[in-house]
Amino acid sequence: MRLFEGTEFDRPPTCERCGELEEVCQCPPEPVAKLEPGKQTARLAVEKRKKGKTVTVVRGLPAEGNDLPGLLTKLKSACGAGGTLKDDELEIQGNNLDRVRDELKKIGFRTKG
Ligand SMILES: [Zn+2]
Repeated sequence: MRLFEGTEFDRPPTCERCGELEEVCQCPPEPVAKLEPGKQTARLAVEKRKKGKTVTVVRGLPAEGNDLPGLLTKLKSACGAGGTLKDDELEIQGNNLDRVRDELKKIGFRTKG
């Protein structure tokens, strides 16, 4: 069972370039600029935001070489907290420094902070 089965998000996958269904798409595979986690250092910080909110911020991972939306999802579920992605910066609600660090290390990233 798919996550959004039966909702408006439940569409068959289509190619982003030609718009055809992925089954019939003839586009050549796109080279993905993937960076190895082990060669990147995530810089972690706990910061205060407006209204006294505390957030855990992850910087230093370029969006071009990483699946940052996917990473955000993993971090949010590891912390059981909400979060947002702003450019190359991941922000998890609350002071979740230890959990974020553990999760990043599990994936293979080096961490600092
Ligand atoms: Zn295509």
